[in-house]
Amino acid sequence: MTMKRHARRWANLAGFLAMAMAAPLAAETVAIRAGSVITDAASEPTGPATILVTDGRIVSITPGHDAVTADRTIDLADKTVLPGLIDLHTHLTGDPGGDFWKEATEPDEWGVIVGAKNARLTALAGFTTVREAGSGRDTAFALRRGTAEGLVPGPRILAAGPPLAIIGGHGDVNGFRSEVNELLDSGFTCTGPVECAAKVRLASQNGADVIKITATGGVLSQQGRGLEAHFTPEEMKAIADTAHSLGLKVMAHAHGARGIQQAAEAGIDTIEHGTYLDEAAAKAMKARGTVLVPTLMALQGVSEGLGKGVYTPVVEEKIRAVQPLMASLVSRARQFGVTIAFGTDAGVYQHGRNAEELGLMKKQGMSDREVLASATTVAAKVLGMEGQIGRLAPGYSADIIAVEGNPLADITVLEEVDFVMVRGRVIE
Ligand SMILES: [Zn+2]
Repeated sequence: MTMKRHARRWANLAGFLAMAMAAPLAAETVAIRAGSVITDAASEPTGPATILVTDGRIVSITPGHDAVTADRTIDLADKTVLPGLIDLHTHLTGDPGGDFWKEATEPDEWGVIVGAKNARLTALAGFTTVREAGSGRDTAFALRRGTAEGLVPGPRILAAGPPLAIIGGHGDVNGFRSEVNELLDSGFTCTGPVECAAKVRLASQNGADVIKITATGGVLSQQGRGLEAHFTPEEMKAIADTAHSLGLKVMAHAHGARGIQQAAEAGIDTIEHGTYLDEAAAKAMKARGTVLVPTLMALQGVSEGLGKGVYTPVVEEKIRAVQPLMASLVSRARQFGVTIAFGTDAGVYQHGRNAEELGLMKKQGMSDREVLASATTVAAKVLGMEGQIGRLAPGYSADIIAVEGNPLADITVLEEVDFVMVRGRVIE
């Protein structure tokens, strides 16, 4: 055999192998033997059942552990199996700390590395879907693709990208020399309804799943201009209308009561934090169907760092101001019938502690069932994904977790999650 023919044979073989590898594999069927299943926060545990999963989706849920054929079996016969949890407010690409100057020293690429670490921790904590509430220009989008393709173990990610902010507001850069501020500009500040609408379209073009705005001042930024409204009502209305016309929802960081009220009246979909919520703001939210995402863990996290030199004096002062208000936030909102959905602001505290928020919500008067619903069915509806996630049913995404005990009797059992599957992939 000549060298030439030899080479051709090898080329043919290589071509064949490439084709074989590209061909779709026959879908594997996995049977999960569950001690009990909570298919929906509104229903009771079923007792022993088998969940069949193929191609990342739930095929069936049948009573007992027999009469189901599968390629592989996962034994959770001594656990309660339930839908994966949803956190509507995370910052996977950052870790906690007061070193705001890192913005000037760390490249965006580093955020992706940090995010890959945190995506796994978040999934292992039982969170199978998160909404990224503000990050670098492309970091959360890269991470979103990484977990979707299974290259990075982690939750399903819906990402905002950089938040829209007023010049020098919370969400814009602050605290540096003016020429450094200019250099670090996110490109997503806006002034006036026209420019703000344009920035929504830019975010959409870049791949945002949701529009994040910083409607009022914020606690952890270096700006000390208070916590009231930053955008004008006209700017917020332009943002909401433009986003909705593109099929996108808007999440607004808001602390001050008038900022919350103006955001709700402008048609913003969710209020994040909501610290100074008063009667008028709550009534505006109720009237417009605006959902509150309380992020009680954010305050828990920053409070643990108070007085330790973690934060600058301007930030410490703001933390102390909001502290007493957060203890009554959920009960204040519920008094006026405002819908509450689960979100934690992970990244302000250590990633992986997300489930501690469940117990904090219960402390403010929600039942175990209401808390579970806030992190499953209610959160899924906020994302417009109520037909895909937040419940276990045939056709739904195989986003499945398992714990010891019954979360409907004690929600804090979710702080210890023993098994996690995201889109049919087991997270380890
Ligand atoms: Zn946040």
